[in-house]
Amino acid sequence: MDLLPTLFLYVVFALYGLATGSLAGALSYRLPRRQPVILDRSRCPVCGTTLNAIDLIPVFTWLFTKGHCRHCQAKVSARYPLIELAVTALFLLALALAPNLWAAAALAYLGAGLVVLIVSDLEMRILPDPIQAGLALLALLWTGVTGANWLDMALGGALGLAIGLLLRGGYFRLKGRHGLGMGDVKFLGVAGLWLGLEGLPGFWLASGVLGICFGLAWRLAGRGQAFPFGPSLAAALLLMLFLSLATR
Ligand SMILES: [Zn+2]
Repeated sequence: MDLLPTLFLYVVFALYGLATGSLAGALSYRLPRRQPVILDRSRCPVCGTTLNAIDLIPVFTWLFTKGHCRHCQAKVSARYPLIELAVTALFLLALALAPNLWAAAALAYLGAGLVVLIVSDLEMRILPDPIQAGLALLALLWTGVTGANWLDMALGGALGLAIGLLLRGGYFRLKGRHGLGMGDVKFLGVAGLWLGLEGLPGFWLASGVLGICFGLAWRLAGRGQAFPFGPSLAAALLLMLFLSLATR
């Protein structure tokens, strides 16, 4: 591709990434707390002022106000600019690795959805259903635009879900309590749709290794025995997709 059109595409993806990251920040806060998502405009949680466009420019507003509300000077959490930057980085990585523009868009929005799931699971131990449903639909787009096999996708999703249910049931029979939440089980199905049958063994291995490392870090940080598994699952899915694209 020529330099200028390529550069233009990267700028467009960066801007979409910042805007989507801003949405991801709001969703990761509101969805697990069951707050209205669409009709409610953003307000400062301290002074209640309705925020307008100038208060909501991704990353830049936070930098210019040094992390404070423009109206009451209350501190604004660094979670918002960090989420916006993470989503933007994933948008650019998706554009760099995907085989075509539609695939890049599907992969970019998968990345944004996974960021919402990770933040929501870390804070509230919830993997919100609307995001999981969105990522399952996005897997259809991904399969269509990458020329992947539809049967492989469906079987991957079914096997992922079945293994998730088996793990959940098995753990419950052994220990008498649940170790794997239904959100995790559903996500195993979503990951199966994205990766297909062939990708599943590598994904299980990667999520196991990441889960053990994350669990150890969680305990060392003194955050208790039970740790959220969603972040490891989400990271493993992204890792497997990026690896398979990078080694194409
Ligand atoms: Zn305020």
